[in-house]
Amino acid sequence: MRCRRCGEKAEISLKRHNAIFCINCFQVYYSNQVLRNIKREKMFNTDDRILVVVSGGKDSMALWYILLKMGYNVTGMHINVGIGEYSARSQEVVEHFSQKHNAPVIIKNTEKEFNFNILDLARQLKRSTCSICGAIKRYLFNKVALDEGFDVVATGHNLDDEAATLLGNVLSWQEGYLAKQSPVLPSTHPKLVKKVKPLYTLTEKENLAYVTYNGIEFFQGKCPLAVGASSILYKEVLNRLEEESPGTKQRFLINFYKKGRNYFEKESGTVQLKECSLCGQVTTAEVCSFCRLRKIAERKEN
Ligand code: SF4
Ligand SMILES: [Zn+2]
Ligand SMILES: [Zn+2]
Repeated sequence: MRCRRCGEKAEISLKRHNAIFCINCFQVYYSNQVLRNIKREKMFNTDDRILVVVSGGKDSMALWYILLKMGYNVTGMHINVGIGEYSARSQEVVEHFSQKHNAPVIIKNTEKEFNFNILDLARQLKRSTCSICGAIKRYLFNKVALDEGFDVVATGHNLDDEAATLLGNVLSWQEGYLAKQSPVLPSTHPKLVKKVKPLYTLTEKENLAYVTYNGIEFFQGKCPLAVGASSILYKEVLNRLEEESPGTKQRFLINFYKKGRNYFEKESGTVQLKECSLCGQVTTAEVCSFCRLRKIAERKEN
């Protein structure tokens, strides 16, 4: 098989684009996609300070690397949430990358800094570990971005993630979440930093190929607490549809952005935002969920 662009030996096939590429042309395709997403969605420009959320997995490492390569002003940020070997190895990968590429990074450890034990907190609050973990991470990424003067927070969410989230939201008609799902979440309060997803048109497979071709180390391990997460099932269902009809995932997501999201935006109304009475960060309640978690963790400590 020959590369569609240059005629050299092809290495990767992208059925939804009806294309096969050699390694070099794949890299050109990948960079063009990222750059087009950044420009089309007005995510950021070269003057902006960008905080990239890095978990150590292939998607966030691909994003960190390509933004650095494109010359953007990027700092990585990693949160170690204290999930044993999984968190330790993830942090190691992030630190290696930072040293190797001379890339600035901010590391936070929620167990050491706040005495958070995610399993314990989830048990006490009868909530899923992922909802606790997600709330902690969202709070810290926004707080650090705000305190350190970053203009935007960028995450490595890919097409598979976004399509699975959309399917989950549609299956239970979560109007509020549907209204907010977007490659760009603008700042709706002076204390909320803009959030962007430059890889939202690229698949997991493409991100894996990109890090592999560029020799970027990443952590392949899965979080042990993710077992049974419904997003995994939604991804499997979408992969099955994609096999039968390549392009289904992309059509589902992109057409939602073009045709569906505006409808939910209009319908969902606006949520009243307040500042947390304890820490001053943005919340919809009197005290934000991070401060509530801190109180529980402190009680345990005493
Ligand atoms: S899978 Fe859930 S618990 Fe594990 S890191 Fe992700 S959000 Fe946190
Ligand atoms: Zn080629
Ligand atoms: Zn608070």
